[in-house]
Amino acid sequence: MDLKNYITDVPDFPKEGIVFKDISPLLVNARATNYAVELLAKGLYDIKATKVIGIESRGFLFGSLLAQKLGLGFVPVRKPGKLPGKILSESYDLEYGTDSLEIKAESIAEGDLVIVHDDVLATGGTAAAACRLVEHCGGKVVQCNFLMELDFLNGRKKLSSYSLHSLLHY
Ligand code: IMP
Repeated sequence: MDLKNYITDVPDFPKEGIVFKDISPLLVNARATNYAVELLAKGLYDIKATKVIGIESRGFLFGSLLAQKLGLGFVPVRKPGKLPGKILSESYDLEYGTDSLEIKAESIAEGDLVIVHDDVLATGGTAAAACRLVEHCGGKVVQCNFLMELDFLNGRKKLSSYSLHSLLHY
C-alpha cells in the first residue's frame, strides 16, 4: 500500500503559494490509517520510551494512535490558552512573527523518555519548541516522529540533536 495515495496536495491553502498536504483521505480509510500507525511504530518497539506527545492539532490524530500502539501514555502539546493548571510555554519563530506552544507541567516527569510526534515536519520550528518543552519538564526526547517531512525546507537541521524518523518524504 502506497500511503502517498492517501495524501492530497491542496494548492494555495491556507495562503496563496502554499501547497497544503491534506491527510483527510488517509484518516477516512481505517486500513490505511492502521497501516500508517504500524509503520510509524515500527522502529520504536526497541527504543525505551515512556510517553508520546502530539502537537496540536493534527499531531493529536496519529500521536494518540501511536501511543496506544506502543502501550504508552499520550500528552497533548497545545496552542496558548487551551490547557488548565500549571503550564510551561515555549515560543518559536514563524515566517512573520512568533507563536507559542504549551504543555501541562505535570504531564512529563523528570526522567520521562518521550517520543515527539507531529503530522508534518516543515521548517522544524514547531517540533523544536515541543522538544524544548519536554526538556524543561525534565524529560528526554528519544525520537522526533513525523508522518511526513517536507525535505526541501530542511526542518531536520533544527532537530539535529535528536533521533528523527519521518514515514514519508516530499
Ligand atoms: P514547521 O514549524 O514549519 O515545521 O511546521 C510544522 C507545523 O505546521 C506542523 O504542526 C504541521 O501540522 C503544520 N504544517 C506545515 N505544513 C503543512 C502542510 O502542508 N500540511 C499540513 N500541515 C502543515
